[in-house]
Amino acid sequence: MSKFWSPLAQSLEPYVPGEQPKDKKYVKLNTNENPYPPSPKAMAAMQAHVNSDLRLYPDPTCADLVQAAADFYGVSPKQTFVGNGSDEILALAFMAFFDPAKPVMFPDITYSFYKVYAKLCGLTPKLITLDEQFKLPIDLFAGNQSGIILPNPNAPTAELLPLSAIRTILEQNRDQVVVIDEAYIDFGGESAVSLINEYDNLLVIQTLSKSRALAGLRVGTAYGSEQLIEGLDRVKNSFNSYTLDRLALAGAIAAYEDRSYLETTVQKVVMTREWTKEQLIALGFTMTDSQANFLFITHERVPAEQIFLQLREKGVLVRYFKQPRIDNYLRVTIGTDEEMQVLVDGIREIV
Ligand code: PMP
Repeated sequence: MSKFWSPLAQSLEPYVPGEQPKDKKYVKLNTNENPYPPSPKAMAAMQAHVNSDLRLYPDPTCADLVQAAADFYGVSPKQTFVGNGSDEILALAFMAFFDPAKPVMFPDITYSFYKVYAKLCGLTPKLITLDEQFKLPIDLFAGNQSGIILPNPNAPTAELLPLSAIRTILEQNRDQVVVIDEAYIDFGGESAVSLINEYDNLLVIQTLSKSRALAGLRVGTAYGSEQLIEGLDRVKNSFNSYTLDRLALAGAIAAYEDRSYLETTVQKVVMTREWTKEQLIALGFTMTDSQANFLFITHERVPAEQIFLQLREKGVLVRYFKQPRIDNYLRVTIGTDEEMQVLVDGIREIV
């Protein structure tokens, strides 16, 4: 704490990201990264852009990447926005669409950044309590609030809402912006991008960090009605007009164009997820029905914190949240088949 900090800085409880150890000895299953490398075409495109053009500023409109992201879903570039990771777009959305005079709604167990952004923007959160099975009671979202934000699938619970439920939330809240954070949608969900022409209050935010294995590049995308995209642009241009660097633009465009690599690697992660599920169930775990690249698991006998600590000693990092209701759960990222075998072998020695 410092006397030089503003009351806002003093009041913040900063977000604590998952551990990123420098030591490569760990099997790293704690931050939902992709175990496979990015598309070789994306890596080649970035290498090709390491040249003297780096002395020039990048295109502030990111027009070529916006076009590539729009083409991926067959929507208009005017309905498409790109940012420096989906975290940046989430921050812009909080600033652009939520009115501090009313609360902003999100689930009580969800991506912990939302609480941080709400505070930064002077917004009051109104939490929707997940039921015993971590399902979202969607009718509770109806009401007079400044907006709604929820991940689909949710994190860290991995629960997926069908498109029909998203539609119900949009219908019940026509006058507020509903932000659907689809960081994990490619691992089994159906994207709500297909609804943006029908609902002008829908903003869908995605990331290249998970299914496209580019967490280190920091690229995210948003899709929504033209007025929502204009709202994001207004805030962005007052805040950080260049957003993406030249290498990120080149890599992300190539990643969007390489559909077959996305499909192949996602399929591998999904197959490994299903194998891991079976192994863990046989070892006495229960879990939510994950449609993401991670599992949310609890053991019938052994406390989650103990498993977390003992796995760490064995060189396997998973995520443990010391947080009410989920403090007997672990979030385990799906790695390669070999990594998941190491996890299962390690767990077998613990439980
Ligand atoms: N939303 C959710 C639900 C996430 O879990 C994450 C990553 N931890 C993000 C957004 C942010 O992803 P990025 O900034 O890498 O695009």
